[in-house]
Amino acid sequence: MTLFKVNPKCPECNSTNSIPIIYGLPSSELATEQNVGKLWLGGCCITGNDPKWRCSKCGHHFGKEKWKHG
Ligand SMILES: [Zn+2]
Repeated sequence: MTLFKVNPKCPECNSTNSIPIIYGLPSSELATEQNVGKLWLGGCCITGNDPKWRCSKCGHHFGKEKWKHG
């Protein structure tokens, strides 16, 4: 994944073991990525208020507001 150079800190536990949450229909490739802990599949139901990151350490989802443009 070259899209995400720096993963943000988890606001709950300050871990930088955050992984991007990917929305949409999961392909088998994405499922494999999830299995190795590279990303988290958020499913195909997008509410418009979805978190962008998942903390691998504590499982907290975060980043839904702060990472909007502007
Ligand atoms: Zn955390």
